[in-house]
Amino acid sequence: MKFVAFNDQRIGVIRGDEVVDVTTLLDTGPAPWPPVRMVRFIRDYERLADQVRARVDSESGRPVADVSLRAPIEWPNKLIAFPANYQRHIDEMNSRNRADVNAYFLKAASSISGPSDPIILPALDGGLAVHHECELAVIIGRPGRHIPPERAMQHVFGFTCLIDVTVRSPQERVARKSFDSFAPIGPWIVTRDEVRDPSALALRLWVNGELRQDANTRDLLLGINDMIAMSSAISTLHPGDIIATGTPDGVGPLESGDVVTIWIEDVGEMSVPVVQAPRQDGFQLTWGRPVTEAGSRNA
Ligand code: MN
Repeated sequence: MKFVAFNDQRIGVIRGDEVVDVTTLLDTGPAPWPPVRMVRFIRDYERLADQVRARVDSESGRPVADVSLRAPIEWPNKLIAFPANYQRHIDEMNSRNRADVNAYFLKAASSISGPSDPIILPALDGGLAVHHECELAVIIGRPGRHIPPERAMQHVFGFTCLIDVTVRSPQERVARKSFDSFAPIGPWIVTRDEVRDPSALALRLWVNGELRQDANTRDLLLGINDMIAMSSAISTLHPGDIIATGTPDGVGPLESGDVVTIWIEDVGEMSVPVVQAPRQDGFQLTWGRPVTEAGSRNA
């Protein structure tokens, strides 16, 4: 099944070009804050699955084109991201890191945006590039700690597309990858049973129709099962947690006015525009120059 979040945190199932609203199987109240309705739905999904299927078989839907799709998960406990997980990307970056050695970082959950949202380029001094990274994202279903690799797939709810937007600069990864809108995900979560082999999925990314990234998850250095085992050796994985599995080669700059399209076999396709944020009053991110004392940034 393909699950979307739409309008006021409604939860829907995609049926052809329609969406069937299944929200009331979980929740008949107003949209919660924080926006965790999908996280709770994933937590309860094993209990709700039969009712979901019955509703999809019996209820009328509405055209997907008539709703506003949101990020399918907006408020996960963790957004884990593996860098340096494809050798050809390591080579193009001249990186000394490897995911199987250096493990992962976290992106702020507030960097998540959805299929209806633009990527917003921050106002940065120094002409720093902001790059696209095309990534398969794993959505955790069943919680767990110390999950062995051979049981990892039992903890996967499904998959979605994720663009790991990244400022290329010397700052900490968590800072340069955590701007608002730097983690577009969607357009839906496809459940695990609909993905034939997550370890052999083609994935592609285009900018303005030009193919920039074209790869396959079979080339992951650290596979999905091992990413789950490693992550859960450190932290409990909770329903709705997201693991971005790393980018293949072909990363490149985004400019205001671009349209980025990500496609992953068996998962889906999503296009989002790129816009430039206006310069804000207050602290200026003069990245590339140290900020060590008052006034030094203007020296
Ligand atoms: Mn990445």
